[in-house]
Amino acid sequence: MTTTTQQRIVRVVRRPQGAPRAGDFELAEVSVPAPGAGELLLQHLYLSIDPYLRPLLAGRYGVPPPSPGDRVPGFVLARVVGSDDPRFPEGCHVVADGGWAEFSVARPEALRRVHDDGLPLSTALGVLGIPGLTAWAGLRRIARPRAGETVLVSTAAGAVGSVVGQLAARAGCRVVGIAGGPAKCRIATDVFGFDACIDHRDPDLAGALRAACPEGVDVYFDNVGAHVLEAALGCLRRGARVVLCGMIGQYNDAEPPPGPRLGPVVAARARLQGLVVFDHLHRFDRFRREVAPLVRSGALRYREDVVAGIEQAPAAFAALMRGENRGKSLVRLAAAG
Ligand code: NAP
Repeated sequence: MTTTTQQRIVRVVRRPQGAPRAGDFELAEVSVPAPGAGELLLQHLYLSIDPYLRPLLAGRYGVPPPSPGDRVPGFVLARVVGSDDPRFPEGCHVVADGGWAEFSVARPEALRRVHDDGLPLSTALGVLGIPGLTAWAGLRRIARPRAGETVLVSTAAGAVGSVVGQLAARAGCRVVGIAGGPAKCRIATDVFGFDACIDHRDPDLAGALRAACPEGVDVYFDNVGAHVLEAALGCLRRGARVVLCGMIGQYNDAEPPPGPRLGPVVAARARLQGLVVFDHLHRFDRFRREVAPLVRSGALRYREDVVAGIEQAPAAFAALMRGENRGKSLVRLAAAG
């Protein structure tokens, strides 16, 4: 058990407006908390600074945001310094949601034990922590890249992106990164082995991506959203998979960007997949056999909005585009009777 009685923490002063500033936070000296029954005392060794904190502070992360005066939340790598729990003896290491502080108390069920595997403890917050798991799970469970495919990933030099790129390369893929500036792009290629890396500040990002991915993109692992997502979507090959992982390019924005807000897709763990009906024409007979009897029996109803005479076609179309049609818009031609 530690004998330290005081600790420093960082508290929220106000919700950041735009990019977070130092003045949005304040340092404070407070008592080291005393663990209650069944609780453990943790001494923090590393704080994990993660992008999700920005939407969390804005109240856009699905959990109540901290109020002014609250400790800033965040994951930590900690040493257990007070424990009666044999699963977490004093001296062992854990990952906890301890916040920006030097000490915290936690219940054992909220902790992930970090075993000594000969690697620096800090890796439990990075390559072997949530960022690494995010990369691994997004590739293995969603994108499922196959050898020979092209995998594009944004924030390529960062915690998640660098793992995505390396795992994809190990799967035999051609790996192209997107990162901010030439120095980061060099990190992606020279340190992490990406085949190429494009600067997202390139004024012709879409053109640069098309040039770097001449065969198109089979997997886009998006960590940025915004204009980077849009540019990447323009390079997709047929059957491509897009992992919507993060939207850091939008986290500082007060207003959501124009266009569809894709955050709920991430929150719902949903998949978006393109559909082109012409791929399914060979299923027409099956469809008709199933649906025509339903229509005949009245079990499946339909409605038509019919105008007569070809001269009505432009108005019908204009009405359709104003949403004024009430059912399938049709123009009956004289010849059709
Ligand atoms: P990171 O890549 O190590 O660091 C964040 C990077 O984001 C910055 O270095 C910067 O890289 C880029 N960035 C910051 N502001 C940007 C902007 N306005 N436009 C474009 N890029 C910007 O961070 P990380 O922990 O690996 O997280 C990367 C992404 O994964 C984030 O979007 C995060 O929210 C997401 N994530 C999602 C999950 C999940 O469960 N879905 C889990 C973990 C992380 P460049 O300079 O190279 O652009």
